[in-house]
This record gives sequence, C-alpha cells and structure tokens, in this order.
Amino acid sequence: MNKNEPSFMSRLLDERREQQSFRELRLPGDKVDFCSNDYLGLARSPVIREYIHTLLVERHASHGSTGSRLLAGNYEWITSVEKDLAVFHHADAGLMYNSGYDANLGLFSCIGRKGDTIIYDQLIHASIRDGMRLSGAQTFSFVHNDLEDLEKKLKNAGGNIFVAVESVYSMDGDLAPLQAISALCEQYGAHLVVDEAHATGVIGEGGEGLVQELRLEDRCFARVHTFGKAVGCHGAVVLGSNVLRAYLINFSRSFIYTTALPPAALAAIEAGYAAFPVMHEVRGQLSALIQQFRAGVQHLETLPSKTPIQVVMTRGNDNTRKIAAALQDAGLDVRPILHPTVPKGTERLRIVIHSFNTPEEVDLLLKVLQR
Ligand code: PMP
Repeated sequence: MNKNEPSFMSRLLDERREQQSFRELRLPGDKVDFCSNDYLGLARSPVIREYIHTLLVERHASHGSTGSRLLAGNYEWITSVEKDLAVFHHADAGLMYNSGYDANLGLFSCIGRKGDTIIYDQLIHASIRDGMRLSGAQTFSFVHNDLEDLEKKLKNAGGNIFVAVESVYSMDGDLAPLQAISALCEQYGAHLVVDEAHATGVIGEGGEGLVQELRLEDRCFARVHTFGKAVGCHGAVVLGSNVLRAYLINFSRSFIYTTALPPAALAAIEAGYAAFPVMHEVRGQLSALIQQFRAGVQHLETLPSKTPIQVVMTRGNDNTRKIAAALQDAGLDVRPILHPTVPKGTERLRIVIHSFNTPEEVDLLLKVLQR
C-alpha cells in the first residue's frame, strides 16, 4: 500500500474537517475526552484503522513478532520502519523500543557509566529517573528550565556528561529552552538527550517535534519519540548516530531482553507517521482550541503553556478531586493530578485539548471551571 495514495490522505483530511466520525464513535454516556494523549485523534480514526488493516492483510503479517530483536523478532518490517523514522526525523539511525518507558530505561541505564555524569531537569519523566538509577553514572538535577542552575551543574560535572530534558513537560505543558540548553551543552562538551514524547506529531511543520522545528538535530546526542501519544499507538524510537544504535543493541537491556513489537504496532506507527505531514489543518484546529481555552481561563491560576497540555492549579488533593468530580458530572473527562504524583501544594487538573474537541465542548469546560 502506498501511503502517498491520494485517497488515504484526502479521506483522512475529510474525516478531520467534518470531525463527524469521532462523534459517531462515542458511545452514549461517554464523556468528552479532555484527558487522553491522543492529541490528533489518530488512535480512534476509522481511516487510520482501515489503513492499518489493509497493510496487515497486504503483507500477510503474523500476529506476533515471535522473539526478541536479537533473535526471531528482528524482522524486515521493523528495520525498514526504523530507517523511515530516521529519515523523517533527520537522524542517522533509529532503534525501536516497545514503549517510551522502555526506551528511556534502556538508554539512560547504559549511556552513563562509572565516572560519568547525567544532569537532568527536576521535572524529568519517571522513565528517565529509573534509567539513571540503573546506570553507574552520578546524577544531578537542575531547577526546572533554569539555565543558570544547569550551567552551575555543568561546571562541576566529570567524565562523559549527559543532559536530559523533555521538549514538552508532561505535567506542566511548557517547553524546554532548547536552543539555550544546546548552546550550554556545546560550551561544556555535554551530550544532549531530548525526550520528545509530547511534541511528536504536534510541534513542527510536519509534526517532527521541537528539535527539528528549531533545527537542532545535529546538536542532540539522542532523541526519544514515543508512539503512545499523538501517533495513537504504542512503542518508541531512540534516534542518534549509527554508533549509538550499535551500542544500544549490545548493552541496552530493555531492548535486548524482551519480545519485539508486533506487526500490528508497526502498521499503526506507519499510519500515524504517514498522516503527520498532511495534518497542518488539524494542528491549526488544535492551536485555535488551545487559544480559546487560554483566553477563557485568564482569571484562573494556570501554568504558561501553549501546548495541548493545560494546567489549572487547584491545590490540595481534596479540592482537586472535588473539582474533577464536578467536571466528570458535567460529562467532561478531566482527571485530577494529586500528590504524590506532583509535589504537595501543586495538585492540579491536567487538561488535554485535542484537535477533535469542538469549540462548544471547550466552552462547556470553561463554564464548569468558572463555577
Ligand atoms: N516520556 C515522557 C515525557 C512521557 O510523558 C511518557 C509517558 N507518560 C513516557 C516517556 C513513557 O512513554 P510510554 O507511555 O510510551 O511508555
């Protein structure tokens, strides 16, 4: 199946213009989705589903990968998708993992060794923290997005130095100042690793992520793109040099000791990535809804975010639960983020805006929040 086939692209865009299919897919009693990471609605698109089905039938694909990547699980489709991902993201090479968690765990547990240093933003994702814990490197956090503090930590670092940041922070929705961070990394000879989980598909001309939008591909040691969010599927890729890829194949335990992704996941990943470049209009709808939301919450305590992840500070587990329950009663699926997931006193509502939400749904959300 040719992903450039005009009918696929035009049907996908028609589906988005009408947004009809999403309403049809909703069962009676279903709440409006302001919670999932399905930013562009690809996980529930009937056109994508059909595309995946056709790919699997055309390729006579089996249901399982039948082994680890070092054995039977290293089938041709998986390596060809890795090559396509590397081309799309302007990287030399890519290595797929079964999830973003596995990718970060496998990457961070083996790149830093005894005598090396990993410096990470204090809001970094748990998967990176867990990976660092398994490594022999010494680790230091720096104050969220604080360049002065990062520089202080860089000055005191030894061995090979790695700096870990997210392009979009998963609980705050703000962006890392990537240009300034990459300049500091260059100045101190540090290797920059960027987790693009929440930027994939959403940021950039064709959804390539923040690194490519800022043309920083060559300044990164590694990038992690995950497929459980805007791609609407599961899995992840670590992008970097051919040497990094070969190193991970030999030393990254969450890559080695697990059964590879099945063909159905590859078909969904292919479908998502085929859709990204043509979804300008959809990303436009998404940013219009984000602006509508932000204009309506000016009087509430929010965090500064231009991304689909929007935060209303509600403070206190009880208060946050109560407000989330009121939103649920109004038919809006918003979930409370409580302590200890976030530090005490910063409990919040994490509201996710999607391209398939309607202006009326955002209005209703704003009305209930105002109450
Ligand atoms: N990195 C970040 C920044 C994330 O938010 C997440 C998921 N919450 C992950 C990695 C893990 O990705 P996955 O869900 O694919 O395991």
